Amino acid sequence: MPRVIPREQHNLSRKQISRGALKVLYGLKDAGFRACLVGGAVRDLLLGRQPKDFDVATDATPEEVKKVFRNCRLIGRRFRLAHVVFGPEIVEVATFRGTGDGESGGDRHVVDGRILRDNVWGTIEEDALRRDFRVNALYYDIADFSVLDYVGGIDDLEQKCLRLIGDPATRYREDPVRMLRAARLAAKLEFSIDPAAAAPFKELGHLLADAPSARLFDECQKMFLAGYGLASFRMLARYDLLRHLFPGTVHALAHDASGALEQLIERGLGGTDARVADGRPVTPAFLFAVLLWGEVAALAAKLQDEGAVRSLAWQRAAHRVMAEQGKRVAIPRRFSYAIEEIWALQPRFAERTRKRVFRLMAHPRFRAAYDFLLLRSGESGELRACGEWWTEVQALSPEQLSESLAPKSTAGKPGEKTGSGKRRRRRGGRGRRTSAPQSDLQE
Ligand code: ATP
Ligand code: MG
Repeated sequence: MPRVIPREQHNLSRKQISRGALKVLYGLKDAGFRACLVGGAVRDLLLGRQPKDFDVATDATPEEVKKVFRNCRLIGRRFRLAHVVFGPEIVEVATFRGTGDGESGGDRHVVDGRILRDNVWGTIEEDALRRDFRVNALYYDIADFSVLDYVGGIDDLEQKCLRLIGDPATRYREDPVRMLRAARLAAKLEFSIDPAAAAPFKELGHLLADAPSARLFDECQKMFLAGYGLASFRMLARYDLLRHLFPGTVHALAHDASGALEQLIERGLGGTDARVADGRPVTPAFLFAVLLWGEVAALAAKLQDEGAVRSLAWQRAAHRVMAEQGKRVAIPRRFSYAIEEIWALQPRFAERTRKRVFRLMAHPRFRAAYDFLLLRSGESGELRACGEWWTEVQALSPEQLSESLAPKSTAGKPGEKTGSGKRRRRRGGRGRRTSAPQSDLQE
């Protein structure tokens, strides 16, 4: 029997549930089905947080859900689901999953303990047991507005602890991505990971190598682009899971004597989190450029030492790093182009003749590459000065900039060539920027 928390004893109210999710819950109920809000939404609402999305669990099969809602499409093969669409909102509706011991109504495919397909329908109790963490297995029942706890999730919410349902090793073998979910949710919720749930990471972390690379890309987006990327990164590093996703990064960090790479990653992720908090757009390209920088920079330097000319060395290094990384995390082509461009533009910031400066500033990837340059200021005093130089030239009008730059040789400080005190004062009067202008090119 579940622990039932009646409506007057919990803080989850219908006002906090999206319109779409309520329509789905009531629609299913009115059609005679059982319908509950489940998973992250119930967890987040009980914690007083705004959920990212609302998931519904029901005893209706996907086909039955489709009959209730016209605006419904069935998706997934591995895990069949119904999506009910309300404009921009999609409510995911999953049929209660069973244990698969002899029930009818679906199929489950297991290879070496790994669940490759899970479409066996069952009861709500069984559904609770198939979820990953106890805090993710709470149900909000639209029939009486109570919260149902079959596994002890409420206790874990109070203790701020992530515990797996069932035997941790078995659950990770079924789906290795659950290890990443543990680190991600611990970072997002600021929870601890139960020692029993963390213990198998060392032995089973390597199973992540077989997880579909497209799914790992999705998981990376959730970890690093949802506002808690820095915390996720630290959690992955702390539990030594990072090497299963970004082996080159871990290697580069181990050789980062100056700490510049760690600083770049921490500032890059922290900056992305700040953008998310401000509601500004973020792109996976900038993020992967940051995470893989140590590796590509080391390889490019090595190739140059071996005699390759600079541009070719960078090109080859970028291709090789992206190809290697793509075996683990499938980075879509449009992002890998952008990543390679951000890297390729880095050496070009050293060129300060008039023509080259204007050409670089007109490059569509200039702002992202400039943001990236600023993150690298810990690498050397020279790079820091270079970043400051580019910050200053952007505050000049095109005419001022043109005047201040030597047509051929490397220019000194911006504005120096003309050296007019009048101009300098005017610039100051307009409120000269002392820090980097906010980039709007991280999109
Ligand atoms: P977030 O708030 O980041 O969305 P979430 O817990 O809601 O976190 P989802 O991926 O939206 O994560 O999954 C919704 C629910 O589905 C989870 O709360 C959990 O109950 C269940 N679930 C998701 N992934 C797994 C998995 N790999 N194994 C078992 N259950 C899972
Ligand atoms: Mg969710």
